[in-house]
Amino acid sequence: MKKNFAIIGLGRFGSSICRTLVESGHDVLAIDLNEDRVNEYMNIATHAVVANAQDESVLRSLGIRNFDHVIIAIGEDIQASILTTLMIKEMGNSYITAKAQNAYHGKVLEKIGADHVVHPERDMGIRIGHHLVSRNVVDYLELSDKYSLVELKVTNSKFFNKTLLELNFRQRYGLNVIGIRRGQEMIISPAADAVIQVNDTLMIVGGIKEIDWLENQMP
Ligand code: ADP
Repeated sequence: MKKNFAIIGLGRFGSSICRTLVESGHDVLAIDLNEDRVNEYMNIATHAVVANAQDESVLRSLGIRNFDHVIIAIGEDIQASILTTLMIKEMGNSYITAKAQNAYHGKVLEKIGADHVVHPERDMGIRIGHHLVSRNVVDYLELSDKYSLVELKVTNSKFFNKTLLELNFRQRYGLNVIGIRRGQEMIISPAADAVIQVNDTLMIVGGIKEIDWLENQMP
């Protein structure tokens, strides 16, 4: 279903969200203080306007309250981010995603009613950190403070040519293999008799400690 989105702030974060939403066929209103950034997105976003989101009358005249989803992607200016979030929250029922610069900023955004607070720099740091610990970590995503999802290349020969049942990750460590990537092929929800081959990449959901342990098994 087509949705309408408003994005406030066309920095690196807001602009990449804008492109992704437009490519997925959604309507996007892009707003930024900076005229050059708005001009750049004139032909990409459905509408692009130069405006200061801290001005309530501007938000009203743009009809922000009628948007299904508003993304507040203001970076450096934390005060502008907080004030804009607060005003949009008070105006209507749009689902609000807001970008936090740091943990305190994130807490405030949650308190004033942002529905989804994202920490792109922190999260990307964690993902890259895991990749640096082991090159075999293709991707890493924290699902909560206890669980994460990892894409891990199997390089330890003790795992080769064994079935998932033989490895028994779920019983032993509470780790669930939800997918196996083998070259171009992707096996989703592999059966217990699936055999792990050299250079398979496993997609695993489980406890953070157990995933750390498994990462360390892949030299
Ligand atoms: P990023 O880290 O995503 O690149 P930036 O801080 O570079 O973030 O970009 C944030 C964008 O938000 C900038 O283009 C800036 O002009 C815009 N912005 C900041 N304050 C406001 C505001 N009050 N109203 C509209 N746009 C704003």
